[in-house]
Amino acid sequence: MTEVVLVTGAAGFIGSHLSERLVRLGYRVVGLDNFDDCYPATIKWANIRALQGEDGFRMEQGDIRDRTLVSRIFAENGVSLVVHLAARAGVRPSLEQPLLYQDVNIGGTVNLLEVSRQFGARKFVFASSSSVYGLNGKAPFTEESAVNYPISPYAASKAAGELFCRSYSHLYNLPIVVLRLFTVYGPRQRPEMAIHRFVRMIDRGEEITLFGDGTTSRDYTYVDDVIDGFQAALGYRGEAFAIFNLGSGRSVGLNHLVALIEQALNKKARIRYQEAAPGDVSLTLADISKAKAALGYQPKVAIEEGVPLFVEWYLGNKGG
Ligand code: NAD
Repeated sequence: MTEVVLVTGAAGFIGSHLSERLVRLGYRVVGLDNFDDCYPATIKWANIRALQGEDGFRMEQGDIRDRTLVSRIFAENGVSLVVHLAARAGVRPSLEQPLLYQDVNIGGTVNLLEVSRQFGARKFVFASSSSVYGLNGKAPFTEESAVNYPISPYAASKAAGELFCRSYSHLYNLPIVVLRLFTVYGPRQRPEMAIHRFVRMIDRGEEITLFGDGTTSRDYTYVDDVIDGFQAALGYRGEAFAIFNLGSGRSVGLNHLVALIEQALNKKARIRYQEAAPGDVSLTLADISKAKAALGYQPKVAIEEGVPLFVEWYLGNKGG
């Protein structure tokens, strides 16, 4: 029997890639997305353009907080698997809109968990974030580290979502996999995220702002590698509640990242340095040994290869 997967946030960056992969693997995918105003809805419709013609895909426009809608989607489609990606993403805007982040990222997650247990879902995969490590993390971050020191409302909302996942798994025997994603990039990356923003601005000859002195570093993960991790998580047969880091296992300094972008664009960046932004952490680095062992996760695209791939996509899609 064909399994039906509910992918929340399906019109977003990661959700659209995941939906494509799952349809190609033979799953039936129901996408749920409210096309929020984080970035233009036209970009999100473009993300799912190729999917719209697929028999195995159907899109529902609506909100994860709408219990009636989510219940109807389960009942009408026989949803048995859930991949929950819909969220208010991004650290800095969460400082401006903490209540909205709380409502969507925590309230929306609990609503989905509640409907999932009512309908006896077979698996629930939750997209969490490396930001939950906050000031606890001693790099490389391992899944066993405490995550009780988030330094932004976004991070706090993801940590809270994880805790609700744990309690639902415990209470109702709902198998749940939490994936902690480390700065994902690649085609369709959210326009306000660092790599996309830097590429756009350097391409246009605009000055870019680097927070800190350029020595901050991040573990950047190419989107195809992350999608491999989600696919493996759907097939995971281990403990009823498991957490995995999905990173590249390598931390890349900001100055090196900018140099790679300059090289790929063949343009020189105009750089302004500014004091580190509140809520930002200075270093992220995933320990990915657990995901390797239990999920067979093996990131394949190094940043030196991924940045040119992104730039190629950007140049082919920037229009004008
Ligand atoms: P995205 O903004 O492109 O995708 C999220 C989608 O969720 C959007 O299309 C948005 O319209 C939708 N959405 C938001 N609120 C909704 C609601 N109330 N109801 C229905 N849909 C709603 O972001 P993304 O980068 O693809 O991130 C996907 C997930 O992965 C998020 O949960 C994010 O927190 C997590 N994550 C992403 C990264 C990254 O580097 N991109 C890193 C860590 C975690």
